[in-house]
Amino acid sequence: MSFVQRTHWCGEIRRGHVGEEVTLNGWVHRIRDLGGLFFVDLRDRTGLVQLMLAPEVKGQMDLRSETVLSVTGIVEPRASANVNAKLPTGEVEVKATGLTVLNDCGVLPFPVSDEDQMLRVNEELRVKHRYLDLRRPSMYKRLALRAAAVGKLRRYLDERGFVEVETPIFTKSTPEGARDYLVPYRLEPGHFYALPQSPQQYKQLLMVAGVERYYQIAKCFRDEAQRADRQPEFTQLDLEMSFVTQEDVLSLVEGMTLSVVNELIEEFSLEKDPVAPFTRLSYDESMRLYGNDKPDLRFGLPLFDVTEAVAGSGFGVFRSAVEAGGKVRGVRYPGGGSLSRKEVGEVEEFCKGFGAKGMAWVSVGTEAVEGAVDLGDGRFLRGSAAKALSPDEAKAILAAAAAEPGDLVCLVADSWAVTCDVLSRLRLHVGDRCGLRDRRKLHFAFVLDFPLVDWNEEEQRWDPTHHPFTSPKFEDLVYLDTDPGRIRADCYDVVCNGVEWASGSIRIHRPDVQARMFQLIGVGEEEQRSRFGHILDAFSFGAPPHGGIAPGIDRMIMFLTDDENIREVIAFPKLGGGFDPMMEAPSDIDARQWDEMGLMVRPAPVKA
Ligand code: ASP
Repeated sequence: MSFVQRTHWCGEIRRGHVGEEVTLNGWVHRIRDLGGLFFVDLRDRTGLVQLMLAPEVKGQMDLRSETVLSVTGIVEPRASANVNAKLPTGEVEVKATGLTVLNDCGVLPFPVSDEDQMLRVNEELRVKHRYLDLRRPSMYKRLALRAAAVGKLRRYLDERGFVEVETPIFTKSTPEGARDYLVPYRLEPGHFYALPQSPQQYKQLLMVAGVERYYQIAKCFRDEAQRADRQPEFTQLDLEMSFVTQEDVLSLVEGMTLSVVNELIEEFSLEKDPVAPFTRLSYDESMRLYGNDKPDLRFGLPLFDVTEAVAGSGFGVFRSAVEAGGKVRGVRYPGGGSLSRKEVGEVEEFCKGFGAKGMAWVSVGTEAVEGAVDLGDGRFLRGSAAKALSPDEAKAILAAAAAEPGDLVCLVADSWAVTCDVLSRLRLHVGDRCGLRDRRKLHFAFVLDFPLVDWNEEEQRWDPTHHPFTSPKFEDLVYLDTDPGRIRADCYDVVCNGVEWASGSIRIHRPDVQARMFQLIGVGEEEQRSRFGHILDAFSFGAPPHGGIAPGIDRMIMFLTDDENIREVIAFPKLGGGFDPMMEAPSDIDARQWDEMGLMVRPAPVKA
């Protein structure tokens, strides 16, 4: 079909074009009929411009929303009363002289042109018709932002001597702690490729190959429980460097992130303010101060520990937790002293919901209200623990919490792990309730010195905290036989606003150390050969010291767009369970394919 192609984009028409003849191609965003005179907002990916269609130009054409048009017309100024200050093209309109319908549009499943209404449309319906959903300017902006981010990351690394290398998708299992996606191999039924959970082994093999600086915009595949910030396939900026220290990798990532994020903020007018330099804290500090390894540092309110001060307390809940080897830790709730009993009860229920047996609380004031305990220094204590605590214990708690009159001090007495989990969540909850999680701020931090391995109680074995290729800290190798849990790794995460954004490490590059690591995590010699023989062999041929990291591209876009749902920043996402309602994938295969692949489904076990 031949048609008149655009001379201009819709979003670029301005006062300076007045009097010019222009041709535009795009979609009918909205149409209004003002007594036979039709006004159409025409949309292309750059924005909207208003068309004025006289009845003789429109004729009998059916111009419902999302019809595709080619329009020629003259740019005219709008009368001042009709100027639309919200639109960059709002001072002008195009008086159409010629109009062609390039394609009609059927009944839409949802109102593409109404962003407010679209917020209420069922997500499955949106994803089923993603090609329509993506027509929305807000969705196109996400795609454009993502493309720009990737382009800038590439440029930054190219300028620093990195080489982009593509690594295979059909490969062998490479462990990152998730289940693999498997692809049956037709030529040898019963054999499978695994899709890469990350290009980890390939990038290390590229270092053995002497590439020295590698990166890739890499698709990773992990069959694990889906969450708002997880997809079965996602994208990482995977990178690796040879002859580097941890410090070299950290400074590269910090420089790259700030440079790229600042350019994007400028180009896309994002209301974001990255905090520089990145905060640094050790894993131990992070657990102690924030209760998890991905702290939201946009606000303070560190956790505090009063285990020692209350070890012999008359308050039985505290004393018995300490006697059982547990901890008494807490978090301050600024201004929470004014919560009603019922509201404090809700805070306690919140803690119980995450496994706490209860939550003790005190609040401090300067007035002798009924039931308050006089601390003898002009302060009066109320709360569930107030009467049972000695004045010294109470003062120690208030000092540790840095509590001011009017604050609520929340305390949990339990195992270290439970206090970490519950209080880290409570801290975020308090941060939300007090409006402390400033959407404008991007607070990046490096979390360093992770433990090398974690004890897996269920399986009764050590699991790698990051992955099995992470190097232990040389000085901690003395604990290898006696106390592996004490070994720290040359391992680092980057977190942003309470979300893990990147993980990386200096790697093991000696075959003997790698074999020792496999042994520690219960991979015996035979399995080492069958699963990882290639990497052990490669390390025996002069592997250089190396290390790297892999920031998540999807999550980077989420920080910049404030999306809490990763699916919003992925063009064609999967829904719960990994289902794509648009392509209807995964789907059955035909009988011939079952046969060729040598596959059959095991019948479901018969229930007794
Ligand atoms: N492969 C690691 C991951 O996906 C990243 C790295 O260690 O570089 O978490």
